[in-house]
Amino acid sequence: LPEYAFIGRSNVGKSSLINMLTKQPKLAMTSATPGKTLLINHFLVNKEWYLVDLPGYGYAQRGKKMMDKIQKLIEYYVLEREQMTCLFVLVDSRLEPQKIDLEFMEWLGENGVPFAIIFTKSDKQSSGKTKFNVNRYMEVLKEQWEELPPYFISSSEKKTGRKEILDYIESINNSLQK
Ligand code: GDP
Repeated sequence: LPEYAFIGRSNVGKSSLINMLTKQPKLAMTSATPGKTLLINHFLVNKEWYLVDLPGYGYAQRGKKMMDKIQKLIEYYVLEREQMTCLFVLVDSRLEPQKIDLEFMEWLGENGVPFAIIFTKSDKQSSGKTKFNVNRYMEVLKEQWEELPPYFISSSEKKTGRKEILDYIESINNSLQK
């Protein structure tokens, strides 16, 4: 089954987003991670696809050994996992483009990994400010890329972006079945 993975810096709002996507209205979801690692969690959604919760990156407080382990796991999953269909990279909509995220996306591009961006916590500022930040972000990406990745604006607080993200996943699933 196709896998859709979510990743971002610690505290970007990944857990809240995953909750927003899967609860109310609830998606039929079962945890399907077979023991081994507590760092990558698979959830089977509607028996159709897996939502994959990847560990956050760039959280130095974890210590170097843990960081190395996490980085290896992320690299392994993103580059080697055949079922990996689209990686959603979460970025905080309030911040200017962060080096660590830009470098991560550049690495994805170099390796031909399909990804989309989710701008999180959009309720924390005016919609005008969010638009401004998103445009600025896309301008920066344009300097690196010919083709821009799809992007979504979300708020877990206000439940925005849910339908768009789930529809996007469904549309890819439908195209895979053809
Ligand atoms: P994670 O570390 O990426 O999983 O981030 P969390 O989902 O735990 O969120 C980090 C903090 O941001 C928590 O205090 C959340 O309540 C808050 N947060 C996350 N998403 C949103 C959002 O959409 N709106 C607001 N206002 N706060 C959010």
